[in-house]
Amino acid sequence: MKRVGIMGGTFDPIHLAHLLAAEEARFRFNLDKVIFVPCGVPVHKKPYEVTHAEHRYVMVLLAIAGNPYFEVSRIEIERQGPSYAIDTVRAFKQLYGDGVTLYFITGADAVLEILTWKDADKLVELCRFIAVTRPGYDLSRLREKLGERYANAIDVLPIPGMDISSTGIRQRARNGEPIRYMVPEAVYDYIMRHRLYSDKAVK
Ligand code: ATP
Ligand code: MG
Repeated sequence: MKRVGIMGGTFDPIHLAHLLAAEEARFRFNLDKVIFVPCGVPVHKKPYEVTHAEHRYVMVLLAIAGNPYFEVSRIEIERQGPSYAIDTVRAFKQLYGDGVTLYFITGADAVLEILTWKDADKLVELCRFIAVTRPGYDLSRLREKLGERYANAIDVLPIPGMDISSTGIRQRARNGEPIRYMVPEAVYDYIMRHRLYSDKAVK
């Protein structure tokens, strides 16, 4: 194994754009596999109560079933305290050794905030970044925005735009609007069965 992708996120819930980003990164960068890493405690306090980690983990598991290149890791869920990418990358670095290049996959919104990540300067030494395009976020002039050192660690990957977000999906569910076909069918069933985002969301 030479090249491993890490797809971090809150995944509350995991949706089709997450899967599309991971698959496109895997294919374009010839990754041996992509590991989805649902966070335990999000670093930046979210403006809502994040769904229990076990539910988010199971939804990722259901979503990636059938793709032999995709895995899910419990590393951030099991770790105490906030989920910092630097800790996760260090752990995978130790696991896989120096012969493997790690590719941290993020969307455009996340990569534009990289300067605020814990030990960001160290992080860009330990892994490479694949920044996928996302509707509403501008990845041009990345060099001016982030500076040479960071820009050199980032490859921009254009993917077919999907204007969906977990926030939007939760909102739609709350309003009783459809979320089907925004998430994999198995994830949809899981959300409905456990009434994750709305009491009303019963099939
Ligand atoms: P939320 O609205 O709760 O923040 P989200 O849809 O942004 O949810 P996250 O779990 O925050 O999903 O994101 C995980 C990763 O996937 C991030 O790097 C994010 O930028 C990326 N991502 C999420 N949605 C998209 C999208 N529609 N297109 C491209 N990248 C995306
Ligand atoms: Mg997000």
